[in-house]
Amino acid sequence: MPASSSLVMSDFDVIVVGGGPAGATAAAFCTQRRLRVALFEHTRFPRHKVCGDVVNPNCWPVLEKLGAAERVRALPRHEIEAASFAAPTGGVLTVPITRGATAIRRSLFDQALLEHARSCGVEVFENETVHEVTSERRVITSLGRYQARTAIIGADGRHSVTARSAGLVRKSSGGNGHIAFQAHFRAPAALDGRVQLHLFHGGYCGVVRVDAERANLCIVTDRRGALFHNDCEALFTHTVRQNPHFRNLGIDPEPLEPLQSAHPLRRPMNVPARNGVFLVGDALRVMEPFTGQGILFALRTAEIVAESIGSSLQPERNYIADVTTLYRQRGRTNEWLRRLMYCERAARAIIPLVRRMPGLARWLADNVLGEERRFR
Ligand SMILES: Cc1cc2nc3c(=O)[nH]c(=O)nc-3n(C[C@H](O)[C@H](O)[C@H](O)COP(=O)(O)OP(=O)(O)OC[C@H]3O[C@@H](n4cnc5c(N)ncnc54)[C@H](O)[C@@H]3O)c2cc1C
Repeated sequence: MPASSSLVMSDFDVIVVGGGPAGATAAAFCTQRRLRVALFEHTRFPRHKVCGDVVNPNCWPVLEKLGAAERVRALPRHEIEAASFAAPTGGVLTVPITRGATAIRRSLFDQALLEHARSCGVEVFENETVHEVTSERRVITSLGRYQARTAIIGADGRHSVTARSAGLVRKSSGGNGHIAFQAHFRAPAALDGRVQLHLFHGGYCGVVRVDAERANLCIVTDRRGALFHNDCEALFTHTVRQNPHFRNLGIDPEPLEPLQSAHPLRRPMNVPARNGVFLVGDALRVMEPFTGQGILFALRTAEIVAESIGSSLQPERNYIADVTTLYRQRGRTNEWLRRLMYCERAARAIIPLVRRMPGLARWLADNVLGEERRFR
């Protein structure tokens, strides 16, 4: 019987809000520390998620530690061999990727992680939306009220209710006004094992094969391009088809599911923790998506929050220190390259330069894909 149907308010050691990669991972790690955990998820899985479907190689050590790596490896996926950047003029820069980057549909990836959390003993409540968290560590949902004895973990994504109701939101300009549109399309036979970024005036587009039939496309555009979101042919024409390298791929503008959108694409870090409420993944910070690190940040912040809650006398202080270090180490390159992605003219000049300096290209790739210097 779901706890919410009882008249008595149910209590748990930890309550997790949101069942994406951050929430499922945090919940599973907490059960490994013998905590009784409930997870509330607004939808029923599998659910579609706007994402480029690229899993950074540094996710594997976290998935191994969680005991979920085999489950994820068994999913249909496509290995990524290189990353390429193509400006409309000025050629293509290709950087080889040597270790374990892969592309997996998010509906499958997220469902596998949530199933794993369930198998670890997490009590999962799907189709139950959290409306509010209170200063007494209570959680009010669409179906009931619950008490968290130790902590509430907000893993409810970029529009986090947890962050808002716990007063953890840092004011920001709300990104740069760009919007992402994403769907899967039929993959042309010539689409190889590269994750490709095609720049155009006003934005960029990420393309990657996810399995034998499908390619994932994310078009990030300013508001002019976004006007055409109801007509995929027109959206292609006014955005990414300006790039001849993309035109040559010959992708049919007929999405295999309705196009979905996401914004803002960037937001500074919220307050990571206060009064027993902790934020993880996109609820904590939203990074520009093109470096494909969002899932990694979701998994790592989830791992760190469970360590902080489960073993530390000062969990909030430790958590804040560790996630600040994590984003400082791994977020740098994203911040630098972001300026380039939105400035086609600068990219046109820089791509040939970096092609002549393979050491620089390797160094940039290493900042995004290289092994993390673990501080624990
Ligand atoms: C265009 C685009 C491309 C991207 N490409 C990549 C990529 O290739 N690789 C990569 O690593 N990252 C990528 N990202 C980033 C990545 O998608 C996110 O960083 C990642 O999904 C964050 O995971 P999360 O668990 O924090 O949040 P989410 O995956 O958003 O999960 C949050 C969950 O919380 C639930 N929820 C929300 N509100 C409530 C509520 N009130 N009550 C209960 N449940 C709630 C939602 O239903 C959802 O299931 C991309 C992002 C965008 C926008």
